[in-house]
Amino acid sequence: KVKTRFAPSPTGYLHVGGARTALYSWLYARHAKGTFVLRIEDTDLERSTPEAIDAIMEGMNWLDLSWEEGPYFQTKRFDRYNQVIDEMLAAGTAYRCYCSKERLEKLRETQMANGEKARYDGHCRCADVQKAHDSREPHVVRFANPTDGSVIFNDLIRGPIEIANKELDDLIIRRTDGSPTYNFCVVVDDWDMEITHVIRGEDHINNTPRQINILKALGAPLPQYGHVSMILGDDGQKLSKRHGAVSVMQYRDDGYLPEALLNYLVRLGWSHGDQEIFTIPEMIEYFTLDAVSRSASAFNTEKLLWLNHHYINHLDADYVAQHLMWHMQKQGYNLEQGPDLITIVKLYAERSKTLKEMAESCAYCYIDFDEFDADAAKKHLRPVAKEPLELAKQKIAAIDELDWQIETIHHAIQATADDLSVGMGKVGMPLRVAVTGSGQSPSVDATIHAVGKQRALARIDKALA
Ligand code: GLU
Repeated sequence: KVKTRFAPSPTGYLHVGGARTALYSWLYARHAKGTFVLRIEDTDLERSTPEAIDAIMEGMNWLDLSWEEGPYFQTKRFDRYNQVIDEMLAAGTAYRCYCSKERLEKLRETQMANGEKARYDGHCRCADVQKAHDSREPHVVRFANPTDGSVIFNDLIRGPIEIANKELDDLIIRRTDGSPTYNFCVVVDDWDMEITHVIRGEDHINNTPRQINILKALGAPLPQYGHVSMILGDDGQKLSKRHGAVSVMQYRDDGYLPEALLNYLVRLGWSHGDQEIFTIPEMIEYFTLDAVSRSASAFNTEKLLWLNHHYINHLDADYVAQHLMWHMQKQGYNLEQGPDLITIVKLYAERSKTLKEMAESCAYCYIDFDEFDADAAKKHLRPVAKEPLELAKQKIAAIDELDWQIETIHHAIQATADDLSVGMGKVGMPLRVAVTGSGQSPSVDATIHAVGKQRALARIDKALA
């Protein structure tokens, strides 16, 4: 049974690269009707923070990438790691290393001077050295890496990879202070949690042969591995803050829907024919690792915006409204003061690329403004619009509250234009500026309808004053 995991180190927010790795792991598990595990790799006590743990979970929840197991925390499993290390010491697959800092430094210098790669020479591996020491003396524990042969694995994304064992060090698995090291914890976790597929960033590819060797020494089954390529900025450099938002929650703040970000991320390095738009069930159905690209992908905000616009227009308006709510609250609007949010979504979906933009544009529906946009007022209000505004006001005032419909408002505007023998725009534009404060809005009848009769009339009065 397939079991995958997402194993972030909680040293900061959930960034888009991590989110894509999480998504691929999640999709792989969902596709196979398997299990998805969340594991927090918090062994680096200096860099891990509770805020980062919360931020990562918040990001996962916002994206709705749910897990069946976990979150597990590595810091809660130290006893288990140490137990395995003790077993390895007893079995001889690990050994205590008493080498002093000075010796290691000197070794390193000599190797470098000879043009060799700096690596531990296995000095403490022999029984005599072990016998010569008392196990209470300060020491680290090293994994006894096989000295010959090679590690071969078939990367599910990159194909077969082979590394000669002589390239690999005897990795430290327990530090002098008794704490297990990162690579070791990962191995024990993947084993204990029965992970079948490790899908992670390409930056971990060098760890894989070491981890495989340790798993073999433990007699543990080997998971399969797939390493996902990096995400680059538009300048071909590794994606970072200077390219714009990299935190998942920043995308929420900027007005993106989770569906848009997920669709964007799934396509960033994966394809299914030339399909661009995927519902979540479609992603689950079609996702395979062999269609994941080996080369790095460049982040393209324009495309993400395009997808966001698509989802704002194609998801259920009441669902979009739930997400809009967050932005409305952030703007501090009193929602009792204006139309319900579904109305706003329907009015603004077509003209909004983000929900933030939508929330900003509809401010006039909730807040009475003091000033009209100066340019728009100059062009459309004073003094040209006195007559159409006055007549339109009368006709709008005459609409019965029970008959307050977009259509009746439309008729009132049409009738005004007809009475004055002018085009619709000569009535509509002044009304628009009067009611919204600006020269841009969705169609003026729907806008007036959303603002409400009494407030619309009061605003027209103000424009006439
Ligand atoms: N904790 C690692 C990271 O955040 C992931 C390790 C793994 O997936 O094996 O980069």
